[in-house]
Amino acid sequence: MAAAGAPPCIFCEIVARRSPAYIFYEDATALGFLDIFPFTRGHVLLVPKRHVDRLIELPEADQGPFLRALATVCRRVERLSSHYNVALNQGALAGQIVFHLHFHIIPRYDEGNPFGVRSRERLRDDAAASVVAALAPP
Ligand code: AMP
Ligand code: ZN
Repeated sequence: MAAAGAPPCIFCEIVARRSPAYIFYEDATALGFLDIFPFTRGHVLLVPKRHVDRLIELPEADQGPFLRALATVCRRVERLSSHYNVALNQGALAGQIVFHLHFHIIPRYDEGNPFGVRSRERLRDDAAASVVAALAPP
């Protein structure tokens, strides 16, 4: 949960299932879902269920499970491509827009650099369904 009085945090809302998301991974401490404005096909986010702004605020007890979740998600993303970026933006100057800790896992294909674009297209239902199916357990 975000601090009392603060506007609701969109990722807390997704964790609580009050906002929709294309969820493909869940365990006791983490949730994985598709980025709604993907840089590439299969661009996903992994968040801790507990609200923290940034990695250094994640309680030590959650760090191991969260890293294991990240490795699991990376393993699944390798079904799409063995080339991918794992990114963590910390602070507005570093590009952080959502202040709930999240790793980006962004598959790379032989399509050049996807990061220079001015605007990204919103994920469509059919594209999302095919990615969720590809990343489904086990
Ligand atoms: P950052 O710049 O690291 O804070 O990235 C935030 C990411 O969250 C961006 O790539 C957004 O496209 C993504 N995002 C924002 N709102 C949602 C949402 N409701 N569902 C999925 N992804 C979102
Ligand atoms: Zn939050």
